[in-house]
Formats: sequence, structure tokens, C-alpha cells
Amino acid sequence: MTRIAITGAAGRMGRTLIEAVLNDPDAQLASVVERPGHALIGSDAGALVGRGTLGVPIRDSLVAALGDGVDVVIDFTTPMATLEHIGICRHHSTRMVIGTTGLSQSQRGVLEQAAWDIAVCAAPNFSVGVTLSLKLVELAARVLGDSVDIEVIEAHHRHKVDAPSGTALALGEAAARVLGRSLEDCAIYGREGHTGARDRNTIGFSTIRGGDIVGDHTVLFAGTGERVEITHKASSRMTFATGAIRAAHWLARQNRGLYDMQDVLGLKGLLKQQ
Ligand code: NAD
Repeated sequence: MTRIAITGAAGRMGRTLIEAVLNDPDAQLASVVERPGHALIGSDAGALVGRGTLGVPIRDSLVAALGDGVDVVIDFTTPMATLEHIGICRHHSTRMVIGTTGLSQSQRGVLEQAAWDIAVCAAPNFSVGVTLSLKLVELAARVLGDSVDIEVIEAHHRHKVDAPSGTALALGEAAARVLGRSLEDCAIYGREGHTGARDRNTIGFSTIRGGDIVGDHTVLFAGTGERVEITHKASSRMTFATGAIRAAHWLARQNRGLYDMQDVLGLKGLLKQQ
């Protein structure tokens, strides 16, 4: 049994994560946390998912939540909140699954430092399908090499605050890494006006925002006379939530270190063996 605490409990992902924990016979909802001042602080977590009383109060402090007996904290909040929470988890030697996106390079550095002391699993996308797509992108980049133009196209709901999505960046990074490029140097974020001809060494990103799109990603490898498209479409947030809980079960058996969803699925190093 993995005892799980969920931060950002009233958020879109927080509520879905609570549902997913309640549906998992091997997981226990140990505690839930929202930001101080949230209207539902002190209410029962059942109110967040339209269930009856669960006996789990919505807390406004992760420190207090850890007192409820927690194996793994699952955090899908904001970069600022995630940094605060990882400091607390590090101090209390508690494992952490992190789904928050939009972290800067230096904020990622804080995660890396915390992982010297605790086990952390961070991924911009916890869906099994996207994790597989990352591997497929690596394979396509390896086979097609510098003979194609690479473009990443993503679409999300109108409330998403960061762009391009963390998943789009991870897909671009996977291709760049295989091709020996630095994404920082070769990424082009949107195009406008007289752009000139395309430089083959760049990786382009296009962002669409609208309605309630859960998350679509395509990596396009466009060559002469043919193109390959690797596409993933999420139709429910539940796919991220069940993936994050799978990661929590896995992480409960790990010692300190920084892991991602490829570690959870055993996909790391798969192509290296060939
Ligand atoms: P949301 O705005 O609906 O929810 C975030 C919640 O966090 C809010 O309820 C907010 O009040 C709460 N929060 C803010 N500060 C807090 C604090 N200090 N303590 C406790 N709670 C706090 O956003 P969302 O759509 O649920 O997404 C949350 C994050 O997860 C975003 O960064 C999003 O991009 C990311 N996300 C990741 C994946 C993935 O698979 N990795 C999937 C979907 C969303």
C-alpha cells in the first residue's frame, strides 16, 4: 500500500489525482493540500470529487500533511509551490512525484539538488503514451538524422499558462540530444514575417491554445518526398493521473535520485543497447 499526499488538490489535476488514488486498491489517500486561503481549506477532500466524506481534511500546510503518514507526495501545482514543497519533502525525507511544468533551468537545479537526499520523479507528462512517444522520437531522429526538418506542434486548453508545453520541449530535447544539438541554440519558437528559408539544423515549435483540449503533440520529421509524424493525443487527464500514481508506487521502492517516467517504465537505455 502506498500512502499518497496530493498538493494542489483543488486544481484540475489535483481532483483527477484524488479520483485516481481512490480507484487504486494499492494506494491510500493519506492527505491533501491546497494553497493557504483557499475557500475549501478544512473541508473534507470528498467535496473536491463529488464523493461523500473521505475522512481526509483539506490542509493548507504540507508540513502538517506529512504528519498524516505519507510515503509519496504528488505535486501538480505551480513552479513556486513545487519549489516550496520540495524543500519540505527534502527536510522530512519524503519521496516526491512532480508533474508541474514551466520550471526554469535554475528551478530544475533545485530538484536535482534535492534528489541528492530524496527520491524524486519529475516528468512534464506522466502519460505512458507520451513516454513511449519520447522513445519513438529518439528512434526516428537516429534513423532520419540531419536529412529532415523537425517541427514540434502542440495544442492545449485555453487555461494553460506556459508555452510551449513542457512535453513539447521534452520531445524537442529528445530529438536534439540524439542529433548532438543543444535545444537552447537550435529552437525556433513560432515564425512571423519574412523569415527566410528554413535552416535544417533548427527545431521549430508551434503552439495552439483553445477550448478544453487536454493535450495534443506531434513531432514532424519532414524530408524530401516523405514525412514521418509521431502524434499523441490525450483525451482525459486521467491518463496523467494514473501514470503519476504508477510512478508513486515505483518511487516508493527507490532510494534518493532524480528519475523520470522513462525510468518508471524501464525504457531508459533501451536504444543504447542496439
Ligand atoms: P490548476 O491551476 O488547475 O491547479 C493548480 C492548483 O495548485 C490550484 O488549485 C492552486 O490553488 C494550487 N496551488 C497553488 N499554490 C499552492 C500551494 N502553495 N500549495 C498547495 N496548492 C497550491 O492547474 P492544473 O491544470 O491542475 O496543472 C497543474 C500543473 O501540472 C501545471 O504546471 C500543468 O502544466 C501541469 N500538468 C502536468 C501534467 C503531467 O503529466 N506532468 C499533466 C497535466 C498538467
